[in-house]
Amino acid sequence: TELVPDLLPRTRRLFLLLNPCGGRGNAFQQCHSHILPMITEADISYNLIQTERQNHARELVQGINLEEWDGIIVISGDGLLYEVINGLMERPDWEDAIKMPVGILPCGSGNALAGAINYNAGFEQAMGSELLLNCILLLCRGTVMPMDLVSVTTCSGTRCFSFLSVAWGFISDVDIESEKYRHMGSARFTVGTMVRVASLRTYKGRLSYLPVLDGHRPICRSITLAANGSLVPFQRSQLHRTISDMGLCEERNVMYKRSSASYDTNELPSFETPSPGSPTALHTSSFPFDSLSEPSNQEGRPLHRDVASTNHHQVNGPKDDLIPPLGQPVPKTWVTLEEDFVLVLAIYQSHLGADLFTAPFSSINDGLIHLFFVKAGISRASLVRLFLAMEKGNHIEMECPYVVHVPARAFRLEPLTQKGILTVDGEQVEYGPIQAQMHSGLSNLISG
Ligand code: ADP
Ligand code: MG
Repeated sequence: TELVPDLLPRTRRLFLLLNPCGGRGNAFQQCHSHILPMITEADISYNLIQTERQNHARELVQGINLEEWDGIIVISGDGLLYEVINGLMERPDWEDAIKMPVGILPCGSGNALAGAINYNAGFEQAMGSELLLNCILLLCRGTVMPMDLVSVTTCSGTRCFSFLSVAWGFISDVDIESEKYRHMGSARFTVGTMVRVASLRTYKGRLSYLPVLDGHRPICRSITLAANGSLVPFQRSQLHRTISDMGLCEERNVMYKRSSASYDTNELPSFETPSPGSPTALHTSSFPFDSLSEPSNQEGRPLHRDVASTNHHQVNGPKDDLIPPLGQPVPKTWVTLEEDFVLVLAIYQSHLGADLFTAPFSSINDGLIHLFFVKAGISRASLVRLFLAMEKGNHIEMECPYVVHVPARAFRLEPLTQKGILTVDGEQVEYGPIQAQMHSGLSNLISG
């Protein structure tokens, strides 16, 4: 009888965190009609806690006993997972804590990571309850894979950890301004996009980044779907010559092509590699703001949420060895450009929303920050076309000269326009210079 406990596979124990206010506010019903019956069927035991306020999940995961759980699952949108990741990183034992497998069951309005998990598993793009069912199935299967995290430092020196994106301009404006249409679920982004297109803004800023392969752009993921639905590495053996003949190269499962003119960082007139004395190697001390930490609140209406990182000073975590402190110039090997932007987006997952296939070549642990930016001058019609094409990931082939995409390991963004909104994983953070670097595979994701 002493052998029995070792021989039997132990029932998995999951710590479920449900946000009753996520999305349309129906997470609780979804949980009782779909989630709990299915995970009970899969012989998973769980503890279900409803969050009572913002940062509740963040505090809860700081107090849990890691030994007691096989995973922490959020039943909400991406915002609640952001809290969990940062709560784990704030623990004194962060190095062990961040290895706790995390998962997401999409019941929010922003369900980007669920979209990425669904895509990674080889399922067709899905929304709503179809996406939820796929994610429950994958959770029950329970395969864990490493997930990239990016450490993000804001102007006050606060550091947080991000699994999805940093956004400025059009995308963060839509995300935060559309909070008032929350009752619509994910349709709030469509409405928000239309409102923002009608009154299109541009933002002046300086963007610097550490490129992965200078002058190349990613074209596809170099993995293919095998007949049984599993992901297998791209067969390079037979194709090796063709690949090099075509000027392609590969890094970390992403296939790169030497850039065409519209994407070529070397041919963009405003791209410069700063040397110590050059005008682009400016210090952030020249940043022309007085009240850096004040959240942008352009209409004077109360913010739905607190600025995410205001009260959290992240001291734990791996060292940011690629980026100098915000007050110091970026290294010579970085590329710096100053532009009028419609948007800047750093994304490290394939999806920006369940139906926004923004970075088709991205994977959960490719170690890459995909930097996208749209320059001022793009027509409203092209911008709408860009977002419509993004639903299927077809925007990559559009080759719009105003849209630039570069893979990077680290970046710094210095807004030169006084007012604006910055988001990290869809959560608003303090406005001002912001920088980030990749920490590949730092966390663990239940991806099925
Ligand atoms: P959505 O995708 O719908 O925005 P999120 O998971 O991103 O859903 O959650 C939105 C916000 O709700 C997060 O910032 C989270 O901190 C906050 N939150 C969590 N629990 C509650 C609660 N009980 N009441 C209000 N806000 C909450
Ligand atoms: Mg990635």
